[in-house]
Amino acid sequence: MAFDFDLFVIGAGSGGVRAARFAAGFGARVAVAESRYLGGTCVNVGCVPKKLLVYGAHYHEDFEQASGFGWSLGEARFDWPTLIANKNREIHRLNGIYRNLLVNSGVSLLEGHARILDAHTVEVAGQRSTPANILIATGGWPQVPEIPGKEHAITSNEAFFLERLPKRVIVVGGGYIAVEFASIFQGLGAQTTLLYRRDLFLRGFDRGVREHLRDELTKKGMDLQFNADVARIDKQSDGSLLATLKDGRVFEADCVFYATGRRAMLDNLGLENVSVALDDNGFIRVDEAYRTSEPSIRAIGDVIGRVPLTPVALAEGMAVARHLFRPEEYRPLDYKLIPTAVFSLPNIGTVGLTEDEARAAGHKVKLFESRFRALKLTLTESQEKTLMKLVVDAETDKVLGCHMVGPEAGEILQGIAIALRAGATKRVFDETIGIHPTAAEEFVTMRSPVA
Ligand code: FAD
Ligand code: NDP
Repeated sequence: MAFDFDLFVIGAGSGGVRAARFAAGFGARVAVAESRYLGGTCVNVGCVPKKLLVYGAHYHEDFEQASGFGWSLGEARFDWPTLIANKNREIHRLNGIYRNLLVNSGVSLLEGHARILDAHTVEVAGQRSTPANILIATGGWPQVPEIPGKEHAITSNEAFFLERLPKRVIVVGGGYIAVEFASIFQGLGAQTTLLYRRDLFLRGFDRGVREHLRDELTKKGMDLQFNADVARIDKQSDGSLLATLKDGRVFEADCVFYATGRRAMLDNLGLENVSVALDDNGFIRVDEAYRTSEPSIRAIGDVIGRVPLTPVALAEGMAVARHLFRPEEYRPLDYKLIPTAVFSLPNIGTVGLTEDEARAAGHKVKLFESRFRALKLTLTESQEKTLMKLVVDAETDKVLGCHMVGPEAGEILQGIAIALRAGATKRVFDETIGIHPTAAEEFVTMRSPVA
């Protein structure tokens, strides 16, 4: 069979664009199909616009704290349409940058929905291509449970384009998106309630971190309701919404925002025409080189449901390009020690094992913890506390995990992640000279383990 492309990538999101550009850089003939928006979820309805809204929400506290430093401001007012319009303009600019990146690296960009017809044929807007390899990088999509009234709820996809900021918001869920958007809505001035079905949100994060964030969000006036499982949503005649819980409690709001996880985006992809197997959760099953059960088809990013983060999709994209076109440079991706941040207000930053994970893995654990009020806040009314925590193996002295709740936790943990990847021991942390006065220096000055 004569192949017209060496690689056909479906989806120009984080993983797809990176795989396509790398493959083209290695001399492969590459096409990318994109049905919705260049740059994918992260650029259009994910990381980037989210972070812009988080910055917007943080001004609330900045204005409140400014008076402690001698500034007097007029009454602060917030205009949601201005923030959204400016955000849209920036995203539009980024879409153009992604287009140039692809075109300038020699990738053929096909705009439209791609459907797989067989193991070597993909159709986009009536045009058929016959590539040697297909890469599925179609990402994910918000998932809302089947409850009566689910059509009244919005997800992150819609939240980025709301015409006005709701006065009262109910956020349902307890993962990254729920906690981040609850902070955004709260910071921008909406009365915010978060409903989570179990006893404490952010399952999988260190318990100390989860409790600390719970306390900080509560101090800021957010209404956190745990063991709160929504049974139905009803719209009232004035347009407001009622969320009724399984235990009978009722909460009223102008907007109900669901962030209850994401499914693989496989809609009308034509998987029935090939033998690509899915796992029990509906994500594409792949081996260590991202090969599906169909030999010519690979998959990366959110659609494989491993670690749904942009830097991971990027790394998987590069790995596939290398495995196919530069095998001598290929190294399998190491999924351990992936640092991550939750951009709640305050942020969480984390890398490595939680205290519970370290114990469960059989480590004898030594813990170091510091809680303090940041220097910047000492001239203000804010009682926000920062938490830093190190999980150390008592026998080898190796730092197994590092966790923080506080301003710029994401920025700080990126550097710490390098240390952990290099295998740093607590002694290495202790021997590192701090940068004074910073919050980050606390990570190298914690001397006494927690009793
Ligand atoms: P995507 O970026 O989703 O790209 C998939 C692309 O495929 C899309 O453009 C889609 O339109 C296209 N597509 C789908 N089907 C077809 C088809 N049949 N034909 C043609 N095109 C198709 N991660 C972080 O690391 N940090 C963050 O701060 C962060 N914040 C987030 C905030 C939100 C609200 C959300 C929803 C996600 C966030 N993420 C964050 C996760 C991150 O966005 C994803 O992990 C990342 O975008 C996954 O990249 P991907 O390439 O797998 O898929
Ligand atoms: P998550 O998987 O992080 O969280 C889903 C939440 O919804 C969990 O708290 C889960 O509860 C809850 N949930 C699931 N099903 C139901 C249900 N039927 N009823 C009630 N609650 C339910 O998903 P998100 O949607 O928040 O985010 C998707 C992914 O995107 C994240 O996992 C992350 O990888 C990525 N992301 C990363 C960000 C970052 O890097 N800062 C920001 C945003 C997203 P339970 O704990 O009980 O399972």
